[in-house]
Order: sequence, then structure tokens, then C-alpha cells
Amino acid sequence: MKISDFRIHSTDKLDAMLAECVSLILEHQQQDSKHWGMVAACVLDMDNRVVYGVNHAMPDGTRKHAERVAIDNYREQYGSNLEHCIVITTLSPCSEDMDERHGDSCTNLINEVGIHKVYCGYKDPSQQHSDAYLHKHFHVKSTRNPKLNELCKKLADTFLKSDDEQLTENFPGKNKNNIYTLLVNSVGAGPFDGGCVIFARALQMIYGGEIVALIGYAQSSVASKNPTAQHAALLVDGRMIDADGIKSQDEFVRNFENNELKHASGKIIGIRPLHNSDLSEAPRDEQLSAKISKLLKSSSAKIS
Ligand SMILES: [Zn+2]
Repeated sequence: MKISDFRIHSTDKLDAMLAECVSLILEHQQQDSKHWGMVAACVLDMDNRVVYGVNHAMPDGTRKHAERVAIDNYREQYGSNLEHCIVITTLSPCSEDMDERHGDSCTNLINEVGIHKVYCGYKDPSQQHSDAYLHKHFHVKSTRNPKLNELCKKLADTFLKSDDEQLTENFPGKNKNNIYTLLVNSVGAGPFDGGCVIFARALQMIYGGEIVALIGYAQSSVASKNPTAQHAALLVDGRMIDADGIKSQDEFVRNFENNELKHASGKIIGIRPLHNSDLSEAPRDEQLSAKISKLLKSSSAKIS
């Protein structure tokens, strides 16, 4: 195997196939948007034979990924020697565990059949650090065509979740109910009313960072008075965390206004470090924070 076997040269030709993959997705979406998925792929061999595949549902409810469909279709028609083939796909091959996927990851499949070149429309940014992806046996090149790249990203974004979304969905993990119960039983409040300082301190024991207060008005009728602390949260690396999960500062403030202040039409006007005199009705309790941080740690609530 020479290094040149991993290189990809005629990208115009591959871009044309990528464009064909995109139109296949759109055509199939019009036919049956539940059965067909948002990724298409094809296998190109040395004799310029091309076999396409589109992600689709299986009878058992799992989904067969486009790369697997294309590779299976190719094998059916031309046999199982795929070593010198290229896989062209709208989204870089998956490498992580997925319950809903039919069969092994596409990265493992491509390793197995001995394909060394993958040309993709969009690289899934979340998979760059996964072990399987780092140890793959093929080279992935993305298209340089900005329009194709944007189209493929748009298609992928219909089902890919951002890292923050994934984390927030799992936050604060499987011990959520135990944490809330402990807080309510100990201080008579949950993590969004009187328990927010204790909860923020528990987060700080794990993640470091700084406990900050959202400053503003609980109701529009008191807006003329001095703004006060409305909620405590943890600030780490420019992002905010509370029991609702991790968000950018702007999004965090918007979310808090919508969930906690909307009815009272209050407003948050800033963020600053929490003072001892802030939120005087919210107790501080190091022991309770330590207990909650233990539960959070074993709760597989990860933020990085
Ligand atoms: Zn896949």
C-alpha cells in the first residue's frame, strides 16, 4: 500500500457524485420522508462504476446508514473486492455507538472492506475526537465546493445535535430526581428557587469556575428600583451552567427570562460575581453542596 493510494485527485468528478447524492436525498424525501434519511453515499470503483445508497429505515425500526447501503449494493452487483474504491458521502462516516443504527459503525465497515478513501460533503464536527475515528484506516477529504458543503451541512444539521445540546439533554444525568429530592427535603426549595446557590456551589466543586448572579428585575413593576440578584449559576470558560444544563451567556439569560421571569415580565440586565449579600433567601450549605456534587459526579453529567 503506497501513500498515494490514500490521496484523492479529481475532485470535480467526485463533486458531481456528491451533488447526485444530495439530489437523491431530496427526491427520496418527497417520496417518503420517514422511510428515507438525510444522508446519501456512493461507491466509485477503478472502472468508474458508481453505486448509490440512501439512509433508510429497517423493518425492526433501526436505520441502515447510507454508506452501508451503498457498499451492500455494490457488493451485490460487482462482488466484494472494494479495496480500490472510494466512498463518497454527504456526511463523514459515523464512528460512535448508536442504538438505532443497523449494524456496526460506518467507520468500522469501511475499515473492514479495506477502502482507504472517503470524500465527504460535510465533516461531523462532534466526531473528530472519538477513538474509533482517530484510528480509522482511511483518509477523509471534504469537498472544497462551498455550495455543496453548505447543502450537505444543512442536511446533516436536520439530525445532528450540537455538543451543548447533547450535554444539556443529559443534564444533570441519571441522579436528577435524587438531587432534586435531596435539595427540596433539605432546604425546602429546588435548584431554581432557593436552592440555586447550593446547586451552583456543587457544580463549582466539580468544574471550577466562578459562581455568578443574574442581575435584574423579577417584575416590570419594580424596574425603577435597584436591580438585584435573581438567580445564581456557575460560569466556566465563558459558558453558564445550572440545573437546566450548559449554555452560552446570552442563551442562558434568554432561557432564564423565558422560564422564570416571563409571567412577571422581569428582565436580566447583567451578570456579575455572586456577593454574600445576594439572594439572602437562598441558603448556603457546604455539606449539602458536597453531597449534591457527589451525586452529580456519579450521574454522568459531563460538561467537557
Ligand atoms: Zn453511519
